[in-house]
Amino acid sequence: MNFKLNTGLTGGYKSNSQKIRVMTEAWVADNIFCPVCGNPHVTHLSNNIPVADFACSHCGENFELKSKSSTISNKITDGAYSTMIERINSINNPELFVMQYTKDLEVVNLMLIPKFFFVPSIIEKRKPLSENARRAGWVGCNIMLSKVPKQAKISIIKNQICAEVDLVVGQYARLSQLRTNNISGRGWLIDILNCVNNIKSTDFFLNDIYEFESQLKLKHPDNQHIQAKIRQQLQMLRDKGFIEFLGNGHYRKI
Ligand SMILES: [Zn+2]
Repeated sequence: MNFKLNTGLTGGYKSNSQKIRVMTEAWVADNIFCPVCGNPHVTHLSNNIPVADFACSHCGENFELKSKSSTISNKITDGAYSTMIERINSINNPELFVMQYTKDLEVVNLMLIPKFFFVPSIIEKRKPLSENARRAGWVGCNIMLSKVPKQAKISIIKNQICAEVDLVVGQYARLSQLRTNNISGRGWLIDILNCVNNIKSTDFFLNDIYEFESQLKLKHPDNQHIQAKIRQQLQMLRDKGFIEFLGNGHYRKI
């Protein structure tokens, strides 16, 4: 696989972000299989289609690409805040590719965040653009990658090593068992996965998760039965094979 971005494609584009967009999108279209179904290619959509950057002609999934030159860190800049929240709430946001490239314009990492792990709480509202800006008052957003549980980040390329197609498709299928179109349910699942991930040991007890009760209460102020909700989510994670239940409130991460 050639990891170099094609700088020959940038003629006619002035802004650096436009050039990067053209090069990274072309690279994905040339090199990346569909992580949902394993189709050898995803098709680049015309820039006039605002909903997504790519579509798979086999399974019909849509994908968006975001890239950055530094380490894939805590946040990634996206478009308008209101559009993003609207898309998440109406369950029509695309799957998200996140790419990292080097200063020498070589792709180094690529991951996929499945669309069903998007909830409003991972979206950060940016400050409105100043009065002097061309689009004064416009409010953009950041996707807070640090709030996305590690299970939801499917690595496709890591340090220029490409994962096997079957492995990626299998990981997506496993995660899709957790899929729900209920945004509140999604939020709870992500919160409890993050709690489990914040516990350092492989084995843990129900009480270790109850430690997060006050934190969860702040996020879900209307819920009067936080502990019951925690148990319900742990049961689902157990049923879907993400944690093991050893009895008497004793759990093990898988
Ligand atoms: Zn597909």
